[in-house]
This record gives sequence, C-alpha cells and structure tokens, in this order.
Amino acid sequence: MTCIFCGIAAGDIPASLAFESDDVVAFHDIDPKAPVHIIVVPRVHYDDIDALTSADAALAGELLRVAATLGSTNHGGFRVVLNTGPDGGQSVNHVHAHVLAGRGLGWPPG
Ligand code: 5GP
Ligand code: ZN
Repeated sequence: MTCIFCGIAAGDIPASLAFESDDVVAFHDIDPKAPVHIIVVPRVHYDDIDALTSADAALAGELLRVAATLGSTNHGGFRVVLNTGPDGGQSVNHVHAHVLAGRGLGWPPG
C-alpha cells in the first residue's frame, strides 16, 4: 500500500519542508486551513496516535515537541490537532499532527 506521508518523509514525493530530523519530518499542508498549517509526522509509519503511543512513547513525545516548537514561533498562539479515525476526520492513515496558527481559530471546531 502506498502512503503519501511515507513518500514525503522519504523525499520521493515533493513537499515544502518546515523541519526535519532523524525521527520526524514537518511540511506545509497542501491545502492550508489557516495562515500557518504545518503537518508533523514520524518518519516511521504508524497508522494513528494510538498505534504510535502504544509502540513508541518517546517518538510520540518528539512529535509533540516538534509541533510545539513550530507553533510557538507564532506569538498569537496555536493549535495542535491529531485527527484519528473516520469520525475524527483522518484522511491520511499515517499519524500526523496538524499545527495551525496565524488567525483566531475559534472553539469548538465545527
Ligand atoms: P487529515 O485529514 O488526515 O487529518 O489530514 C491530512 C492533511 O494532509 C490534510 O490537511 C491535507 O490537506 C494534507 N495533505 C494530503 N495530501 C498531501 C500532500 O500530498 N502534500 C501535503 N503537503 N499535504 C497533503
Ligand atoms: Zn506512511
């Protein structure tokens, strides 16, 4: 099965990178929902946050650390979202954190 985010992490699918390390890659969302919309993924494929935290809590922590660091560069605040499963709005089955910022985001989401 082909995975878009595995392809981006491997450099096989082009993306505008915001950060990369040995463990994590961050790139700008192709269809941004806010002025700042960055996707953060582990290089290793896990389907969702449940699979990731069950298998590698340290990597889950690194994912959140990178998301927080990228969000914190925006002084107005930011939101980190991990959509999970069909009802959670997950469309790409490679765990990813959305970092949203740059406008008032409102609460609760629709
Ligand atoms: P989800 O709906 O699974 O929570 O979020 C998937 C996100 O990935 C969406 O916001 C979508 O716009 C983004 N996305 C899907 N395909 C690509 C792609 O090929 N490149 C980039 N940069 N973002 C993508
Ligand atoms: Zn993947």
